[in-house]
Amino acid sequence: MPVSERQIEPPRLGEPYLLTPGPLTTAYSVKEAMLRDWGSWDDDFRAMTLDMRMRLLSLLGKGAEDFDCVPMQGSGSFAVEAMLGTFIPPDGKALVLANGAYGLRSAQTMAYLGRDHILLDKGDYLPPRGEEVAAILHDDPAITHVVAIHCETSSGILNPIDEIARVTQAAGRKLLIDSMSAFGAIDLKVADICYEAMVSSANKCIEGVPGFGFVIARKSALEDARGNCHSLSLDVHAQWAHMNKTGQWRFTPPTHAVAAFLEALHQHEAEGGVAGRGGRYTRNRDVLVEGMRDLGFETLLKDRWLSPIIVTFFCPSDDRFLFDRFYQLMKARGFIIYPGKLTVVDSFRIGCIGQMDENVMRRVVSAAKETLEEMGVASATPPAKALEERAKLAA
Ligand SMILES: *Cc1c(COP(=O)(O)O)cnc(C)c1O
Repeated sequence: MPVSERQIEPPRLGEPYLLTPGPLTTAYSVKEAMLRDWGSWDDDFRAMTLDMRMRLLSLLGKGAEDFDCVPMQGSGSFAVEAMLGTFIPPDGKALVLANGAYGLRSAQTMAYLGRDHILLDKGDYLPPRGEEVAAILHDDPAITHVVAIHCETSSGILNPIDEIARVTQAAGRKLLIDSMSAFGAIDLKVADICYEAMVSSANKCIEGVPGFGFVIARKSALEDARGNCHSLSLDVHAQWAHMNKTGQWRFTPPTHAVAAFLEALHQHEAEGGVAGRGGRYTRNRDVLVEGMRDLGFETLLKDRWLSPIIVTFFCPSDDRFLFDRFYQLMKARGFIIYPGKLTVVDSFRIGCIGQMDENVMRRVVSAAKETLEEMGVASATPPAKALEERAKLAA
């Protein structure tokens, strides 16, 4: 069946759609895959782990044979901490690029690890650009690694990872990417973008359930990383070596979440892989943004920077607009939205990822329209301050 005709099934228990960047709305077959129990040491589960790792590597395209995939128990942040602690040696130094909460979290993780780092903090949403990264690397030869966020989920900005990768490689440094909310929907082909390691998790664009993350790294980097890690349980090198020797995870794996993820990977492939998945999310975003703009809402970001993952909208300036009420009334209509994370102006976010298509997004827009009417909000126009804020963003 052509991708465009694939039916997205509504949640069978009538639960609201999660318009959030993970956990997100999963397919029924993904939830169903969790009905069986698996022995973590058993051949069947070991084969599932290997199949999952191979399927993830196949998303990298040409050159994938130089990389390996290491799953890691815990939420996405555990996997980020594992990546930073394993690949940046104790005598290394990182340049952390931040334009939102997840970049700042990476810097905070480096501080916890007691590892040397400097932070380029661009504020709520301005993208770190290639030239400024190049200048910092030029001025500070001690920097060994650059840490970048692919899609900064706190604003929904798609950072210019190609630019950042190019200047990092040109300066002879190594790039570590938090592609948590992008991998599986936005290309990260190793032939196009040079990186040492990247990290993502089960409950984002592959549309599995929460429970683990995974690090994809150059085999040479994995080999060199022995002994770097500060933590026994988060040591990616140790997990990798053990898994390649025994087929098993070192400590209890989230067996049900892995089974669900494998089903999610089959669905991802059936949808046309990264291109198919990214295409559906892009249509979701386009329908959402167009419909919301018709209601008078404005996006924080200009079109160029909008990711197909999640979109930030300014709250309307009308006094009758109260976010908590808007949230509750949207939930009553079947849609769970997400509060904003901007420090300067009020905002909220709507995710485009998970088991939903453009038809669902049309219903989201209708629900927003009805909700505004119910609240007595005549216009969704944001305050002038919000638009001034946006004007700071170069085209
Ligand atoms: C979701 C996400 C994470 C990890 O968050 P957890 O709550 O630990 O799963 C990290 N970085 C980005 C960019 C994310 O979107």
